[in-house]
Amino acid sequence: MQNKVNLLGFSQKSLEAFFKDLGQSSYRAKQLIKWVHQKGELEFDCMTDFNKELREKLKEVAILEPPKVLKTLTSNEGTKKYLIELKSGSSIEMVRIPEKNRMTLCISSQAGCALQCTFCATGAQGFDQNLTADEIIGQVWIANYLDRDEPPITNVVFMGMGEPLLNFDPVIESIEIMRNQLAYSLSKKRITISTSGIVPQINRLADTTDVSLAISLHAADNQLRDIIVPINKKYPISDLLSSCKNYLSKQTGKRNITIEYILIDGINDSVKHAASLSKILSNISCKINLIPFNPFNGSDYKRSTNRNIYAFKDYLIKKGYITTLRITRGDAIDGACGQLVGNLKNTVKGKGVIEHTSIH
Ligand code: SAH
Ligand code: SF4
Repeated sequence: MQNKVNLLGFSQKSLEAFFKDLGQSSYRAKQLIKWVHQKGELEFDCMTDFNKELREKLKEVAILEPPKVLKTLTSNEGTKKYLIELKSGSSIEMVRIPEKNRMTLCISSQAGCALQCTFCATGAQGFDQNLTADEIIGQVWIANYLDRDEPPITNVVFMGMGEPLLNFDPVIESIEIMRNQLAYSLSKKRITISTSGIVPQINRLADTTDVSLAISLHAADNQLRDIIVPINKKYPISDLLSSCKNYLSKQTGKRNITIEYILIDGINDSVKHAASLSKILSNISCKINLIPFNPFNGSDYKRSTNRNIYAFKDYLIKKGYITTLRITRGDAIDGACGQLVGNLKNTVKGKGVIEHTSIH
């Protein structure tokens, strides 16, 4: 069993190679993708367009196995957090966020994170492991097919645990499956990679794919960013913004980068900070997403006051930036940005939180 290959995380191209090795036509890859990712089927025996001999062979050498859901928590506005166990026994979290015309899934690419941004619960936890492609696409599979009572996923954001660009190949393999028309058929605009700014990998990404890119900037000067996003010491702001321009230059159609900016009380949230931000972004095609800091146990930071949040936002709007304020969703279940630690034990259970120990 352990030596069997898990085909859940194989893109069409990888499946074609796999079937070729079995002496089968490449058409089998399309059939398998459809069964697994369009119909949600995991039993080879149910794949009726494979003959008995092929089904037996597949059972002998392969498995189709998503990670395991240990627990879910639903807040009263509908945000649902899932605690998921990986093969190794480590756990991660993902969050389903219902919005007006879409259903966004916030997925994890790593268990923990090595980058230690000072405002992030995942960073405080340290790095545990990279997820494999089946563990990444498995999250999308679970949200669509294990949780069949819920509406299907329309958007995927890599804003859960981990730094997606430090787990490059599995992230790309899973994106290929998300985009495949025989699978989830998500357009490039409906998949967003969020990164703290791994410059060489942003450049590599530009040559590999054209999904939406979000940059976790959070500060407009190196002195402050060095502290709150320590990877900045390696890849300072000017290099980061050049890599953003490079990314945009490789795109077709009118595209924007999303600049994410957390507002932390007394740290980066004055109008002076907004002015520096406006200045450095002046020649980049972008929109700005402001995220009031979400508190977590062990952090001394505080969420900015509403007065500061709106003053910051208004300044940027006056300067002509499309600026949105991310309304915090899921904080009652610690499912908001930066609160994901792969452990539902620390969650503050309050009013309107429904807990399930497993879903079937
Ligand atoms: N590692 C990637 C993606 C995961 S973090 C990155 O840093 O972009 C996803 C988003 O949540 C990032 O914009 C991150 O800065 C933000 N975030 C992290 N901790 C947060 C917190 N405590 N409050 C609000 N947003 C937070
Ligand atoms: Fe890692 Fe992103 Fe958290 Fe920074 S904000 S520690 S890069 S997950």
